[in-house]
Amino acid sequence: MSLEGSYDPENIFAKIIAGEMPCVKVHEDDHVFCFMDLFPQSPGHTLVVPKEPVRNALDMSEDGLKEAIVRVQRIANAVKTALDPDGIVLTQFNGAPAGQTVFHVHFHIIPRYEGRPLGEHAGRQADVEELKVLAGKIKAAL
Ligand code: 5GP
Repeated sequence: MSLEGSYDPENIFAKIIAGEMPCVKVHEDDHVFCFMDLFPQSPGHTLVVPKEPVRNALDMSEDGLKEAIVRVQRIANAVKTALDPDGIVLTQFNGAPAGQTVFHVHFHIIPRYEGRPLGEHAGRQADVEELKVLAGKIKAAL
């Protein structure tokens, strides 16, 4: 899907926000829903999903974007405290040619560890029990 097109309310992240699909949750408030990426590129890969029903960041309201990015910073700091990575990558893709695969706006928080290569994007499915342990540590640091 390119940058043009309409929002599909049946997308997987909309269903997770609505509680219709499971996830390993880290945080929720009025503006965002945050959970562990099921196909992490690195241990601790966390997604911050604004509740605003739009496909990408270019479609977001200015207020929604401000609220979201502040939470991305807050949750990235919790990931830092909880997991002590050597670096953290923040990414956000707009449109399939840019790498987007789920068309509800979201931000990636990807911890990086010295000497450990980044996994494939949306590659191998993680063990949910391991994700729960990581989410518990991040929650405790929020
Ligand atoms: P995008 O490519 O759109 O920027 O990122 C979508 C992300 O969502 C990918 O990193 C992928 O691993 C993750 N993902 C896809 N389906 C699911 C799912 O059902 N649950 C969770 N927790 N993550 C998902």
